[in-house]
Amino acid sequence: METVNEYDSPMYNEAVGQFDRVAKLMGLDDNVSDRLRVPQKALVVSFPFRHDTYTDVETIFGYRVQHLTTMGPTKGGIRYAPDVDLGEVSALAMFMTWKCAIVGVPFGGAKGGVRINPMELSRAELQRVTRRFTMEIINAIGPETDIPAPDLGTNEQVMAWLMDTYSQHVGHAVPAVVTGKPPALGGSVARREATGRGLMFLLPQAARAIDLNPEGATVAVHGFGNVGRYAALAGQQMGAKVVAVSDISGAIYNPDGLDTESVGKWVDENRYLEGYHYADFLDGNDVFALDVDVLVPAAIQNVIRKDNAPDVKAKLIIEGANNPTTLEADDMLRERGVLIVPDILANAGGVTVSYFEWVQDVQKYFWTENEVVARLREIMTRAFDDVHGIAEQEHVDMRTAALIKGIRRVADAKLVRGIFP
Ligand code: NAD
Repeated sequence: METVNEYDSPMYNEAVGQFDRVAKLMGLDDNVSDRLRVPQKALVVSFPFRHDTYTDVETIFGYRVQHLTTMGPTKGGIRYAPDVDLGEVSALAMFMTWKCAIVGVPFGGAKGGVRINPMELSRAELQRVTRRFTMEIINAIGPETDIPAPDLGTNEQVMAWLMDTYSQHVGHAVPAVVTGKPPALGGSVARREATGRGLMFLLPQAARAIDLNPEGATVAVHGFGNVGRYAALAGQQMGAKVVAVSDISGAIYNPDGLDTESVGKWVDENRYLEGYHYADFLDGNDVFALDVDVLVPAAIQNVIRKDNAPDVKAKLIIEGANNPTTLEADDMLRERGVLIVPDILANAGGVTVSYFEWVQDVQKYFWTENEVVARLREIMTRAFDDVHGIAEQEHVDMRTAALIKGIRRVADAKLVRGIFP
């Protein structure tokens, strides 16, 4: 099968490579597999962005890609990052499709991105970019069509501006157009913590599978944003010892364990980890080689590669970020017996609570934190058991098993819907 040039990029080729490998293993119908290799809709926009100085106007590129519209509305985050491109967003949209199918939420995958460095923007600039990008994609999104959420470089405030822009456009408040917004606007309680917490709910099951005691297990987390921070916090609350966390400024390391709540407060006040007391300061990439039981990559893609995979000492990797491990590194680590809980399973807690948020907004009836957390735990632990069961039955690794589960569900739905016209 050929690569589709429109989307050609290392990350898209990697996503399709993973898909092809599993589709072949499953004996998937060629017609269905050809259809699933490419996004159904992709919107590329460019727009002018005025800096605070009012003299500079920059042309900015943005994307919204809907991989699969078969299952219900499409769902996926919007990332702001300096290297975002169509291929990357398309790969991430495809991952979202499998992720939604693995946890059984009735959405297809989507993703959006704006090629900009959010760290360099003032609050006013961030707001202007968000509102203009929302207007550019406004006909593609909606509570019954495509529902954005936060991702790398975006947060609750960005989602609030997106919701406001959409609502101004249609003339009334539409909270269900976006998830991951503040609870004051119809956001769900416990959404902010959902991805990191959901990931850590899998630690006991994953540890059991490799005879590791999760109580006191040492953990290093790469990334201390929405996913990494709450994964570290949940890990510590569950009795693991979080010895290192990192962000773009570097990593902090304390072999006796970090107080993750105090680290969070430091970042709230100082933005970056650098300067935090009670820990050594290392290069951010040093976390991959630390002598720990569990590694949680939770920042960006392609950070565990063939060059640093041999240095990894952890026995268990739980992927918080999307696509943090290259295919080559994945093979190398598996050969060494490292258990990898793949991104499409491990970080699905985010889209699960986003689904809860959408349900609450549509029904205009809100749940308690205990209800949200209990349902999240139930869905995540069941998904892990399902995927682990497939891995044992088919004698495959967890990533392959997760893809089999996701692809099977989507392919079944496509076949029963048939082809229009
Ligand atoms: P975020 O912007 O809140 O945090 C990102 C963290 O990574 C920050 O600590 C930042 O300093 C660090 N970082 C950014 N660029 C880096 C670089 N070049 N090198 C090293 N560190 C860097 O983002 P997030 O929402 O936590 O998302 C992190 C990852 O998790 C992404 O891959 C995202 O797609 C994935 N993810 C997020 C969610 C969610 O609910 N937010 C859900 C599923 C998957």
